[in-house]
Amino acid sequence: MGLLANLLTLHRVDAQVRALRSRVDNAKIFFNAQEKQLALLERQRVDLETQLKQLKAVVHSLETDQAAAQERIDKLRSELNMSTNDKQYKAILNELKVLENQKDETVKRAVEEMSRIDETQKRIELHAATTAERAKVRELAKAKLDECMKDVGERLSELESERERAADLIPDRERKIFDRVAEETEGEAMADVTIVSLRHREFACGACNIEVPFETYAKLSSAADAVVQCKACTRILYLSEETRGASNEEKSAEKPKKTRATASAAASSGGDLDPNSPEAIARDKAKFEKTRKL
Ligand SMILES: [Zn+2]
Repeated sequence: MGLLANLLTLHRVDAQVRALRSRVDNAKIFFNAQEKQLALLERQRVDLETQLKQLKAVVHSLETDQAAAQERIDKLRSELNMSTNDKQYKAILNELKVLENQKDETVKRAVEEMSRIDETQKRIELHAATTAERAKVRELAKAKLDECMKDVGERLSELESERERAADLIPDRERKIFDRVAEETEGEAMADVTIVSLRHREFACGACNIEVPFETYAKLSSAADAVVQCKACTRILYLSEETRGASNEEKSAEKPKKTRATASAAASSGGDLDPNSPEAIARDKAKFEKTRKL
């Protein structure tokens, strides 16, 4: 096999390896995203639980304060009943007033903090539901990744060794060119040359459509080991079987055409098809379309 044929084999296997790898990579990316989301949700859960604990501690301490104040109030009330003079009575009454106010404040704060506890508990419940949903998605992603690894794993290692064998057949220099272009083009290292017009010797790169000089086409037609890169997109150019077929058809068509041409020349003005005639343009166009589809 010629160098270009070996390069095409490498290209075919390389493309399959890349496609399989990207399937696994995508499944991994999706799974990792789910893991990340769950880790974030877990951190949020810990934060919420900490908040709840702190709020409960605040309420507990307010309740303790409240109980202590109540105890003092009760004590002062009995002292008030036992007070013997007006001055003592007024002093106790004043202290009672201050304590009652403080106790009211404490109760008010405790009620506020308790409603914050309720809110936090609701948020925790909602958060748990979100986490459960996300965990389901993670399980699906895991199953998909496992399935993908199972499907692809064996085939991928087969293809990878096939790729190695194909690469071994190619000289270092050309292999480096191939690897570099394959990397740059995400696995599209080879491009066929398309015929724009054989008659006008116009050719194009099948990947980027930039003109390919006739010399390149001629070189590829005659040598099986000519490595020529597209000047625009750097892909390694080759002639597909159909492109070769089209040019051979053209060559073999030239001879019988002459007899027909002579016959028609005798009949009328005739001659070979005028390159600008609608028939010739249509034929070139059809050929171009045919090679474009390869
Ligand atoms: Zn190109």
